[in-house]
Amino acid sequence: MHTHTRRGFLAQTLGAGFLGASLFEQAFFRATLARAAAPSAPVDVFDIQKVADGIYGAIAHAPVVVNCNAAIFENEKDLLIVDTHSKPSAVAALVAQLRTVTKKPVRWVVETHFHWDHSQGAHAYRQLAPGAELVSSTATRSLIAEFGAARLKESLEESAKALDGYRQQLGKANSPQERAHFERMIAGTRAYIAEMRNYQPELPDLTFEDNLVLHDKAHELHLAFRGRGHTSGDVVVFCPEKRALASGDLLHSWLPSMGDGYPHEWPRTLQQIGSLDFTHVIGGHGAVQDSRQRLGQFAGYIEELTEKVEAGKRSGRTLEQLQTGITPASLKSLAGEYGEFVGSQMVRYDADAELSRPADVLADSVKGNVEEVWNRLDQV
Ligand SMILES: [Zn+2]
Repeated sequence: MHTHTRRGFLAQTLGAGFLGASLFEQAFFRATLARAAAPSAPVDVFDIQKVADGIYGAIAHAPVVVNCNAAIFENEKDLLIVDTHSKPSAVAALVAQLRTVTKKPVRWVVETHFHWDHSQGAHAYRQLAPGAELVSSTATRSLIAEFGAARLKESLEESAKALDGYRQQLGKANSPQERAHFERMIAGTRAYIAEMRNYQPELPDLTFEDNLVLHDKAHELHLAFRGRGHTSGDVVVFCPEKRALASGDLLHSWLPSMGDGYPHEWPRTLQQIGSLDFTHVIGGHGAVQDSRQRLGQFAGYIEELTEKVEAGKRSGRTLEQLQTGITPASLKSLAGEYGEFVGSQMVRYDADAELSRPADVLADSVKGNVEEVWNRLDQV
């Protein structure tokens, strides 16, 4: 009776995928979600979209603690999955949802870079797919070894701080919509802290410097490092036959996150990526892109912002002065449709921004980027 109820609950929580999963997987989902405080685990953490034949983008719905998207490449006999989100329960949710699309086993898991929201779910694959290889660039493996534990600790501290903020805001909320928002933020943040408190970062098994090609019968998959950008180790996964690119945070549908970035080198790296013949882009955050135009826009923004911050800093202006002066309206690269696009994408796919106006979120993000570039200008 108890088992039956639990099974019904999981089927509801994880959707149709739960019943399509193997018994081994079902047991894994059960255990993982129990550890992750399952009652607050949302239904449909991802929106799984077919991008090309055998290639899917799993787009993270605005999760409370940020989760990256995943890209799924369906090989002849198995799957390659790109990125592992911020927590093992997100991997459990992804694989359960994936079982509505394919029952092939996971054989390869690629981590595009070392950031916590792209790598902290990796442990789930150790249990769920013990034979799967965890793959990254050499630089990313070193960065996880060096910073993985510290970044997890930082994310837990930030979450605890955010939790205090949400509680205060809940006290001041004056609409049912605001109340529901802050209640959701509190429940999700608490679940994240509970789940991740004792997590140990996983190190990749297989690393490469510049290129690794999987010659699968279904298609070739090119894993490529093309220079420093978002971090010193970002890789992409490119399928030439289907013209699809999984780009992590080197290229996505929000404004870039530049705290560990190389602002002078990033646009050049994107130019290299641009020489690959793709039309579909599954980035680390926000919607799938079905054209190549965002690559130039994203690179153009990084280039313009870097020039302005560098010129301002060299002429003796303060960070605060630059943050006041460099607004979205002052940037040619954000004029027109592109600025509106990224603003609305951040509101739609970032839970923290969901009560805000796109223009305000855009302005805040530019301010944050000005500071990040300021700090990273002389990075060698
Ligand atoms: Zn990210």
